[in-house]
Amino acid sequence: MADRCVALTEWDAIVVGAGPAGSALASRLRPHGRVLLLERDAAVTHASPRIGESLPGAARVLLQRLGAFERFLADGHGERGATVSAWDREEPVWFDHLRDPNGPGWHLDRARFDAGLRETAVAAGAVLIENCGRLRVSRNTNIWCVDVEAQGTQHRAPILVDASGRGATVARQLGLARRTDDALICLYAHLRADADDEDHCTRICADRDGWWYSVRIPSGQRVLAFHLDADDPALKTLRDPERFLAKAKRQPLLADALPSTGAVEVHARPAGSAALDVEALADTPPGFFAIGDAMLAFDPIASQGIFHALASAESAAAAIARQRAGEPAARAAYLQEMSAVCQRYHEHLRMTYDGVVRHRHEPFWARRIGN
Ligand SMILES: Cc1cc2nc3c(=O)[nH]c(=O)nc-3n(C[C@H](O)[C@H](O)[C@H](O)COP(=O)(O)OP(=O)(O)OC[C@H]3O[C@@H](n4cnc5c(N)ncnc54)[C@H](O)[C@@H]3O)c2cc1C
Repeated sequence: MADRCVALTEWDAIVVGAGPAGSALASRLRPHGRVLLLERDAAVTHASPRIGESLPGAARVLLQRLGAFERFLADGHGERGATVSAWDREEPVWFDHLRDPNGPGWHLDRARFDAGLRETAVAAGAVLIENCGRLRVSRNTNIWCVDVEAQGTQHRAPILVDASGRGATVARQLGLARRTDDALICLYAHLRADADDEDHCTRICADRDGWWYSVRIPSGQRVLAFHLDADDPALKTLRDPERFLAKAKRQPLLADALPSTGAVEVHARPAGSAALDVEALADTPPGFFAIGDAMLAFDPIASQGIFHALASAESAAAAIARQRAGEPAARAAYLQEMSAVCQRYHEHLRMTYDGVVRHRHEPFWARRIGN
């Protein structure tokens, strides 16, 4: 629990989760009221490197409107180089983001990025409680109540937002179903990059039983990630760092860039598409919103999750303002927008997986191609 004693218990909005989505929303709501931001974990540090580091150039305008862009630029994130992929063929195909009208985008120091957004929210006046422990959500006479059990306090607000990421812990407490479309798992490691590793590309390649990416990040590490099915027996054996690295090095596109040694820890995370049921959300009592991964979590191949976290925070902030101004349909419009985002995303995802014809008979690809 943060040392600060929070005496206030009546708020205009309570946001659960201080990832990119929750912090961005807290910054946006703060000028119009009292905002409480509840975070399960302690402060973000470099001791726990986070996964998810590519940010498209289109995020610039969202960061500018958030008032977080100057700080973002000063935080030393790296400019994103080309994407090189061996998707349907062994021969690499280059895509240069420099031609993107929004600019090339960035490879983030993810811990610094998340910490920066949290600090922006606090600087805007949101009250942040880190290490908040277990929360219990209920509703009492048109007001949302959140019990912070470890503190023995109850906080109340007309607006409650689930920004707790893939776990969607608040929505689950409210009994909302979360549809998981794909039991994809990401195995990943942060390797110490070789001293002469100057590669700024994102390297992506299809394997018979999944797909890889590798990126060098500003901390001087190289992220190596492999995505495979949750029921693949290799999930267990590939937790062994030597085997993980050896498998990656069989891909010529990766072998070129990976460091020679790799005493690393291999972590696992769910990574498939998942979404809350929009119709069930529309039936929840007024004032409840879900944003970021809690609303809709993307397959990492889309590289869209952080952009969506910032964009959905902006849309939810606008809907909350309209609802406060007496427009009851504002939440329905927000949910309609999320449905449209979900539909477009699935169309793109299908096209991306359909592109891997060379492995189409392998179980991993057969499950996804044509879906
Ligand atoms: C393998 C992988 C690679 C990815 N690569 C990319 C990429 O290159 N580019 C990209 O844009 N996206 C990528 N993503 C997705 C991206 O990381 C997420 O979309 C993004 O972090 C979503 O932000 P969020 O704030 O919604 O959720 P999160 O970042 O998950 O933040 C949620 C916060 O809520 C807190 N929390 C959870 N439960 C509770 C609770 N009960 N009480 C209080 N707090 C709680 C958590 O501690 C966390 O701080 C990747 C994801 C994966 C799995």
